[in-house]
Amino acid sequence: MDGEGEKIALVTGANKGIGYEIAWQLASGGARVLLGARDRQRGEDAAAAMRDAGLDVSPIALDVTDPDTIRAAVAHIDERFGRLDVLVNNAGISGNFAKQTPSTADVGTIREVFETNFFGVMEVSNAMIPLLFRSPSPRIVNMSSSIGSLTLATDPNDYRSQAPARVAYPPSKTALNMLTVQYARELRGRGVLVNLADPGLTDTDFIRNTGGGVGGQRPTRTAAQAARVAVRLATLGPDGPTGMFFNDEDLFNDEGTVPW
Ligand code: NAP
Repeated sequence: MDGEGEKIALVTGANKGIGYEIAWQLASGGARVLLGARDRQRGEDAAAAMRDAGLDVSPIALDVTDPDTIRAAVAHIDERFGRLDVLVNNAGISGNFAKQTPSTADVGTIREVFETNFFGVMEVSNAMIPLLFRSPSPRIVNMSSSIGSLTLATDPNDYRSQAPARVAYPPSKTALNMLTVQYARELRGRGVLVNLADPGLTDTDFIRNTGGGVGGQRPTRTAAQAARVAVRLATLGPDGPTGMFFNDEDLFNDEGTVPW
């Protein structure tokens, strides 16, 4: 088997943005990283850039809404490595915000966003869990957002409560948060630590394509800075937390945990 003595990590949506930086940082830390991309060419281009920098990465075709690509990814990882140590469910979409005003929302847009941000995480996780069970220190990191926090969304002093009302992207992350808590509860006894990362407002295409900010706030982090919390959660030691929501690599500092 390939990868003996190394951590094998899979990052979904790793061809750009925060996922690319998570893959870069995990590989820089010595992991063998599988760079998930729904578009084969974009995945190969991203992997080539990392290999030029001396990093050990391979592209893997993976659309989190396409069961065939998920099955093929599992077969590939099983055959090559026989296990998976780290799964970062990073792939996510905002959906068209113009179609997310509650009273006029397009239900198809809501379904589309949930397919990627919620069901995609479930399908990929469930497919990969048998491989994660073969790891001595399995970790799952789900990329959420503080936009999905009910506490912050209802705090009149918080900028998130001033953002326009939207019923696809924020609820998809709220649902992902509860999903993660439930996975953590089930998998705790199997040594799998499952946590949520909030990258913070980050300067990526995601934000650029959706108006450049939220509730009057502009991005405060680069993708490389945003990646750090996910990388920290992907490399937790055996006594690390599970079923929690963090937005800082210094997990338990004053600002490190995100309220539900
Ligand atoms: P991004 O630059 O738009 O990158 C998103 C990545 O996800 C891309 O690689 C994209 O692939 C991929 N993707 C989308 N749908 C996919 C699918 N069905 N299957 C596989 N890959 C798919 O966004 P980002 O800012 O890096 O966001 C990464 C994560 O952080 C998301 O979950 C997002 O919700 C979360 N987040 C971001 C911010 C922020 O301020 N940027 C804040 C909070 C949370 P393509 O290149 O093919 O489109």
